[in-house]
Amino acid sequence: MLENLKHIKEAWYTSHNFYFSCGGDECHSSTYSYAWATDIDHNVFLCELALTRSLNRSIDSLPGILIHEITHFDDVLMAGDYAFGVDGAENLAYSAP
Ligand SMILES: [Zn+2]
Repeated sequence: MLENLKHIKEAWYTSHNFYFSCGGDECHSSTYSYAWATDIDHNVFLCELALTRSLNRSIDSLPGILIHEITHFDDVLMAGDYAFGVDGAENLAYSAP
């Protein structure tokens, strides 16, 4: 986990540019945001729902969503969406730390 965080920080500060835009073809009413893992230009699409989220430290905050999305890129962490929500994350942490 700590290694993963270091990796995200490194990607954020040094190795890549990320492009965040509002809206996208894949935005649905229940979609916060999305990104394509193989996109070498690192585009992150923020849907309307994401823009209603808090900027402060809280669950599903906008900054949290941004960090979540950049972990999906193959050259950042290649992270998949294995579980959603606090309970899902907790269960995953126990079963596959
Ligand atoms: Zn995701």
